[in-house]
Amino acid sequence: MLIVPGISLKSLNPRFWDNQSEYYLPQAKALMVSYADFHASRTARKRAMDNGIHEFLGVPRGRVQVFLDNGAFKALSKEWHVRESDYTKFVEEAKPDWYPIPKDYIPAPSMSTQKQRGFYQRTMKMNEAYRHDGYVPILHVGRYLENYLESIKQNPQLGQKKEFGLGGLVPNLLRSPNAPAHDEIIESIMNVRKKLAGKRIHVFGIGGVSTLHVAALLQLDSMDSSGWRNRAIRGIIQLPGTGDRQVAKLGNWNVREVSKREIEELRSCTCPSCTRYGLNGLKKNKTEGFNNRAIHNLYILFEEVALIQRHLEKNSYETWYQKHLTNSIYKPLVDKILATKNQEPSKIRANSKIRA
Ligand SMILES: [Zn+2]
Repeated sequence: MLIVPGISLKSLNPRFWDNQSEYYLPQAKALMVSYADFHASRTARKRAMDNGIHEFLGVPRGRVQVFLDNGAFKALSKEWHVRESDYTKFVEEAKPDWYPIPKDYIPAPSMSTQKQRGFYQRTMKMNEAYRHDGYVPILHVGRYLENYLESIKQNPQLGQKKEFGLGGLVPNLLRSPNAPAHDEIIESIMNVRKKLAGKRIHVFGIGGVSTLHVAALLQLDSMDSSGWRNRAIRGIIQLPGTGDRQVAKLGNWNVREVSKREIEELRSCTCPSCTRYGLNGLKKNKTEGFNNRAIHNLYILFEEVALIQRHLEKNSYETWYQKHLTNSIYKPLVDKILATKNQEPSKIRANSKIRA
């Protein structure tokens, strides 16, 4: 599974893609930048269009892929109006490697069925309008996921697309009180995987270490995450298999502090930051501490994915994760996915429709 770390134009540090940087991570094969950042900065937009987005970011073309996010999520929360033609012109000139349809309408699980239907229809209309070229169609987890699959099946050009984007997974799996039961979501995503066999599926906005397990077990091909930066800003680091720990008091988040045992474990961390600066580097404030924590967090994501894949290949995942994935709110989900996978295929099919 390809991890696509989300970056921000506000600060390109730590430059994990740059082999001249002390924070270089050769494992990184892609990154994601949001069009919302270019919408906010006309200068950045122009420079990326004039020079190409790879040159603009200093990303080596061919070695690291640039994924563009359409920024729909941010536009929605800020009530921005982004013109479709501004986005498509940007795509044509800046030439990212991967880019979704200009807009999608992201449903929240708490919305009424009628509103969700409207969002589905508008997103599908956009998918159909951009069926003829490199734009990646988007589907949303929720009440209309089955309808998306049906509409794609009925449209030969959309059916030919090699890549798809899947949004809305995290709010449906977490937080929202009205989210359909987890069993149904998991089964519906397994159904998407089956119906889009042979296609690459990118999942938007998956956060930390434990969600990686969910995405990997569901056989999704790539996922983006900005969690490594968001946590670092708040003084939080990720540990393998366990989740978040506070190392620097930079906010009022209710996050557990690192224990003595975990500090011992951190001494053997081989990320670029811990190797050079140790625990003190992670504890620093200001930019330096942010860079150290962020690169540590990202490194842990790569390590975790490598571990997951190794155990899946060796058929040892089911015994390994029981010990490895501790204190995670996602552990019950992993249990559920494995249980569902072990069910008879016919039963999965029968259960796979999400009730409206
Ligand atoms: Zn580290």
